[in-house]
Amino acid sequence: MTGHSHASPQDPAQDLHRLVACEYCDALYERTALAPGERATCLRCGGVLYRESSGAYRRLLPLVVTALILFLVSNTYPIVEMDLKGVRTETTLWGAVQALHSDHMTLVALLVFGTTILFPLSEMLMMCYLLVPMARHRMPAGFDRIVRGIRQTRPWGMIEVFMIGVLVTVVKLSTMAQVIPGVALWSFGALVVVLAAMLSFDPRDLWHYLEPSGADEAPPREDAR
Ligand SMILES: [Zn+2]
Repeated sequence: MTGHSHASPQDPAQDLHRLVACEYCDALYERTALAPGERATCLRCGGVLYRESSGAYRRLLPLVVTALILFLVSNTYPIVEMDLKGVRTETTLWGAVQALHSDHMTLVALLVFGTTILFPLSEMLMMCYLLVPMARHRMPAGFDRIVRGIRQTRPWGMIEVFMIGVLVTVVKLSTMAQVIPGVALWSFGALVVVLAAMLSFDPRDLWHYLEPSGADEAPPREDAR
């Protein structure tokens, strides 16, 4: 290092970038490159530190967009159509939430709304908010807060639990009425699969694909002035 007094300002940040702390016991490690499909585990407690996820990262934006489209279809079309002695009824997810509410099951209505509409939708939108600028090598504003938001929202999305409930109900009702699966039932099934793929990606790994570019996007420095 001779002659270059202006070393890259990102050097300390790059060093920090390579450190990874065990989520379970706080042991600190230096990140090393992994082969596809490999994962690093903590020497002390055996917890998973990180996985090789660059392949998963490349598939992430198409996955999120697919999930959003399936979500839209699932909420537009009826889940089931029922024919009970000539009387036809059909319901959408939102219709079911409203029916629960008007049957004085407001708490259940809120739970269904939160776990099947609100939380999954907000997670997908937050992912888009991060991934679209990142695809153009730009840093989205509030990156850290959004990553944290995604991790906090995740446990509340329970579309797969809802799907099992719907399937059990459909099977039970089919003994009393003619039940015709609606478009949304199929798209919900597909959504569960796509979401499972999306959820296998840890949003914290996004930090490693963030490319700081341009002086105005460097991390805040805490120099005393
Ligand atoms: Zn550990």
